[in-house]
Amino acid sequence: MKNKKLTDVLKSVREHVVMRDFTTLRIGGVADYFFEAKTIDDLIKAVRTAVDFKIPYFILGNGSNILFSDYGFAGLVIKNTTTNIAIMKEKSQVIVDSGVMLPRLIMELASNDLAGLEFLYGVPGTIGGALHGNAGAWGNAIGDYLKNLTVLEKDPENGIPKVSQYDTSWLDFSYRSSKLKKIKSKEKPVILTARFQLARSQKEEIIRRLNAIQKKRQATQPIGLSAGSVFRNPIPKELKNISGSGTKNMPEFLKERTAGFMLDQAGAKKLKVGSAEVSNVHANFILNKNGAKGSEVRSLIEQMRDSVNEKFGVVLEEEIEYIGQW
Ligand SMILES: Cc1cc2nc3c(=O)[nH]c(=O)nc-3n(C[C@H](O)[C@H](O)[C@H](O)COP(=O)(O)OP(=O)(O)OC[C@H]3O[C@@H](n4cnc5c(N)ncnc54)[C@H](O)[C@@H]3O)c2cc1C
Repeated sequence: MKNKKLTDVLKSVREHVVMRDFTTLRIGGVADYFFEAKTIDDLIKAVRTAVDFKIPYFILGNGSNILFSDYGFAGLVIKNTTTNIAIMKEKSQVIVDSGVMLPRLIMELASNDLAGLEFLYGVPGTIGGALHGNAGAWGNAIGDYLKNLTVLEKDPENGIPKVSQYDTSWLDFSYRSSKLKKIKSKEKPVILTARFQLARSQKEEIIRRLNAIQKKRQATQPIGLSAGSVFRNPIPKELKNISGSGTKNMPEFLKERTAGFMLDQAGAKKLKVGSAEVSNVHANFILNKNGAKGSEVRSLIEQMRDSVNEKFGVVLEEEIEYIGQW
């Protein structure tokens, strides 16, 4: 890549792009470079180019599970908007690009009488982001439905990112986490496509379930700018590695120890820092009321953690991730 610039190789890359516009919290400073990957080939090319140029990269889905720093990101943000969905009705399976949004996939499956992922209806994320964090709700998690996936990862022999296919076990899912979420290196593997195993069900029946789920979400979650649950529910060590959700096989008494319950009991709903406020509907949600800064959200998170630690002696851990320079 001698004498070449990143902008020569990735033609539509943009420089100095504000990340606020690409996160559900509407928070985030400037990324040095920003590239939208509309196809899997774009995604592969962008990652390989970043590696060639020795520039850190970050794969951005819908930005719904992250707190992006006010100081931005020194590197290339690759926004994944890949779109393909290939349904194999006879096998009740789907192969989907990692940039597809969950609600779109779920509706497409419903139109084909395929069910399974309805519990994720209303989660505003991509397939890649959902697999990265093993997204779930009400005792279900996406990892339970994954059959296999393709990823782009560094070839240990020559350092060039190559495409590999793996079974579900490669992601080593645990409650709201996966092997990828635990990797802190700058050159993390990237999920390209995923194959899910679903079940046959009548479209009308699936739509009924989706309507019920939507109502449940509306009743329990706030409207406004957020990144979903701030903290994970604390799960005892012995239950941490159960395949899917942390709550499915959880003893009854632990359900009274969810992060939301403890935050509520600890009075967190009254907390705010600047324009960042704890929701009065759900104590595990932070809302950006009016141009809140990332630093304000971060200090609010510390206050929330302290409140639960003081009342219950439990140190909550973040479900959201901090991205960029802190
Ligand atoms: C209103 C609201 C409700 C929510 N409800 C839920 C819920 O019920 N359950 C739940 O689990 N979550 C929930 N969330 C959180 C969030 O929507 C999900 O975790 C979602 O799956 C994140 O996807 P994303 O595309 O937005 O990921 P992003 O926030 O863009 O990224 C999250 C992480 O995934 C990584 N990533 C993204 N794509 C890839 C890829 N292709 N390959 C490798 N890594 C990748 C990113 O690099 C980053 O580290 C909610 C959020 C909101 C705002």
